[in-house]
Amino acid sequence: AKKSPSQRVQFFASELGDQVLHRQELIHSLKAAIENRQLQLYFQPQCDRLRRNTGYEALLRWHHPTLGPVSPAEFIPLAEETGLIVKIGDWVLEQAVATLKGWSEKGFTGRMAVNVSALQLHDPGFADRIAVSLRDKGVSARQLELEITETALMQDIELAMATLNRFRELDLTLAVDDFGTGYSSLAYLKALPVSRIKIDRTFVTGLPDNEQDEALCRTIINMAHTMGCEVIAEGVETEAQASWLALAGCDELQGYLLGKPGLQGFQGTADADDS
Ligand code: C2E
Ligand code: CA
Ligand code: CA
Ligand code: CA
Repeated sequence: AKKSPSQRVQFFASELGDQVLHRQELIHSLKAAIENRQLQLYFQPQCDRLRRNTGYEALLRWHHPTLGPVSPAEFIPLAEETGLIVKIGDWVLEQAVATLKGWSEKGFTGRMAVNVSALQLHDPGFADRIAVSLRDKGVSARQLELEITETALMQDIELAMATLNRFRELDLTLAVDDFGTGYSSLAYLKALPVSRIKIDRTFVTGLPDNEQDEALCRTIINMAHTMGCEVIAEGVETEAQASWLALAGCDELQGYLLGKPGLQGFQGTADADDS
């Protein structure tokens, strides 16, 4: 039977209500997620052109007791809107540095990349808290890389500047994430302590057949190298993408082809990136 227009409106209204409720419920439980030990870091390998491991990206996972796993694509925006990301981000960094210490003891000399939100950069004490945590654990700042999206970086650059300058003093390096999806000022990029540029997955997907994606990837690689930055491509899923990127001069690769995010990460000298 067909629904009358008013029934349909009711249906939409209750669905909207459900969404609001869901949102409130998520925010409420996210507040307690750290204390309730529901957050975890997963690690995805990064490799050079010869597929040797160079490091890992830490990716946050939230296992909700009744909803199950909630995607960071869903809860990170909520954490940013509510400011909860500052506390969550501190937890992520603390875990990442502790993990780095453990791996270093097993012989790991690569780096760990950690995602950082704009709001964290606006906090003037942020860089120094990282430095203290690194010093406490005896981990070198060179082993930690902070990933910030192009959009977040350019959004409030004046507000972030103090933190970014402090990064440079402390030897903390920056990777510009999702590069190509935002609108960067090259002058700013040159002025910032950027060591790596990450080509967004949306441009990698079309390789090697989409000519626009090919041209974009080539341009990003050349521009990054001109500025003295290394380039890593994210979302590499096929051999064809990997070999195209290697041939185009892309320094590093990350994606399901090289390894999915997992709990394990570095496991000693043997190659153990499967998870
Ligand atoms: P991102 O930083 O661009 O991370 C890459 C995303 O692509 C991850 O999704 C990863 O699991 C996924 N991925 C990696 N390789 C492949 C591939 O070959 N194919 C496909 N289709 N996907 C791939 P994930 O883990 O769901 O994270 C989503 C986003 O959430 C991240 O995007 C990042 O922006 C944010 N995020 C994750 N952890 C944190 C965190 O600790 N702090 C902050 N502020 N944001 C985080
Ligand atoms: Ca990232
Ligand atoms: Ca991305
Ligand atoms: Ca082609």
